[in-house]
Amino acid sequence: MLDIRIEKTTTPKELPSKDNPLVFGTIFTDHMFIMNYETGKGWHDARIVPYQPIVLEPSAMVFHYGQEMFEGLKAYRSDDGRVLLFRPDMNAKRAINTNRRLCIPEIPVEDFVDAVKALVKVDEAWIPTNPGTSLYIRPFIIATDPFLGVRPSDTYQFIIILSPVGPYYKEGLNPVKIWIEDDYVRAVKGGIGEAKTGGNYVASMASQVKAHDAGYSQVLWLDGVHRKYIEEVGAMNILFKINGKVVTPKLNGSILPGVTRDSVLHLCREWGYEVEERLIAVDELYDAAKSGALEEVFGSGTAAVISPVGELRFEDQVIQINGGKIGELSQKLYDTITGIQLGRIKDEYGWSVEVK
Ligand SMILES: *Cc1c(COP(=O)(O)O)cnc(C)c1O
Repeated sequence: MLDIRIEKTTTPKELPSKDNPLVFGTIFTDHMFIMNYETGKGWHDARIVPYQPIVLEPSAMVFHYGQEMFEGLKAYRSDDGRVLLFRPDMNAKRAINTNRRLCIPEIPVEDFVDAVKALVKVDEAWIPTNPGTSLYIRPFIIATDPFLGVRPSDTYQFIIILSPVGPYYKEGLNPVKIWIEDDYVRAVKGGIGEAKTGGNYVASMASQVKAHDAGYSQVLWLDGVHRKYIEEVGAMNILFKINGKVVTPKLNGSILPGVTRDSVLHLCREWGYEVEERLIAVDELYDAAKSGALEEVFGSGTAAVISPVGELRFEDQVIQINGGKIGELSQKLYDTITGIQLGRIKDEYGWSVEVK
């Protein structure tokens, strides 16, 4: 059990009004979790303190070489008043893999989950209850040595902040338009694509801007070597329903292994769908669209849960999916996963974890 010192704020903020929509990632709760690391001493001084700025040297290594990682998960308030997390152990395990790749000291799964639970407990009044809302949890680690040489830092801070959020897309569960990138790449096998780290996001921004300017809300990445095989959407994994089968790119070292992806595949197999994790060439998709075999396309990720895709654009070719409407399977997955997250559907998989 992590020993966490708690210092509560003496000036609590006003909770957001139920009447205003919560814009993703703009409001932060009263408290934050911090724990320090020092080589020789290990992780220490776990504490929950009032939400506040952090003070770092301008030479802090995180600013120069990007040694940082993050996670993302959510807490939900069930109808009967319980506070529920969704598979937090998966985030803790993924954090360990990310840390290994980035030479950041590991945090034991139990300590990670304890820290999340303790902070959510302190700020549980901030969990919103309007439909589609939740409390987004953002754990992250930064390298803090004041040093301009290139090597792993000897000091770090592990911080968790919380943000009440509404539905991820302003459009709600309406299908989004996706731009398939044919120029830039996000990640390559052997790189850091399967680590959850800011570096992958900054690599995606130029293309994101280009896609936005063209009227598309997200970028779909192709593999960095052949520029031919579908990878993921950069903050979501991508899945296709082709001829009744659920098909998704295989985790190949450059794709982020999503907790939502894993949950979706589990449910689909449970429901009797044939599931294929394999290479999917962009040509195959376009052929499937032409022949009418491409039935549904959807993204999966913590922020939006399931995000139906209504249109894909690759170079000059545009395809519409399912007449621009949300597909049956996409809707069922969304309803089931959010149902489990909110404690409305019986959780047969041990995914829901109560914060007591
Ligand atoms: C976080 C993330 C996802 C989605 O993962 P979930 O665990 O389902 O939220 C997908 N791709 C990238 C690049 C990510 O950072």
